[in-house]
Amino acid sequence: MAGPDRAQEAAPLSPTSAVLPSGGTVRPVVRWGTEVMHRPARPVTSYDEELRALAADMVATMYAADGVGLAACQIGVDLALFVYDCPDESGTMHRGIVCNPVLELPEGRGRSLDDGDEGCLSYPGAFVECARPDWARVTGQGLDGEAVAYEGDGLLARCLQHETDHTHGTVFGDRLNNRARKKLRKEMEAAAAAYPADWPVGAVGTTTEVDQLDR
Ligand SMILES: [Zn+2]
Repeated sequence: MAGPDRAQEAAPLSPTSAVLPSGGTVRPVVRWGTEVMHRPARPVTSYDEELRALAADMVATMYAADGVGLAACQIGVDLALFVYDCPDESGTMHRGIVCNPVLELPEGRGRSLDDGDEGCLSYPGAFVECARPDWARVTGQGLDGEAVAYEGDGLLARCLQHETDHTHGTVFGDRLNNRARKKLRKEMEAAAAAYPADWPVGAVGTTTEVDQLDR
């Protein structure tokens, strides 16, 4: 998921955060319309070095793109996992890796919607309001196959939902009405020059003007 600027760099880290693998290679982010993004991903079954290397590439790509979350399909890999490094409502940072995510959302009286802006690295430079439950919990497996569970509010709740959607082949444009989708498309097209086909390869450490305007 596309994130706000990284002004929260010095923010506290949640005690439940995972250590994200480092040393990965930045890969081009795959865009909406590419087949791998629009069908359910294969479940992760092998918790091996190959999976760890994939997760490291996902982390490197997420950071290079200034994102707060990234699913494997966004670098063209058909596997159900995502990584994130995202603040919650209080500004506390949360980091995690979830294979085979299963989402739990509040129901009934516990359910309230947050209509904040949402953006996707696979449709870069565009943000639009998208109503989602303001709290979410996700369970699944970590890189060694161990059970993991993460939960939270604020942008983190949105991120956990957005990234789990990716593992099911759903992009947030699928959740928008025609008017909102049109607005999103216009913004994406207006920003297209800032996002060449191999973005964010070579973009490490830079912030484009478009990013600054967006947030
Ligand atoms: Zn996305």
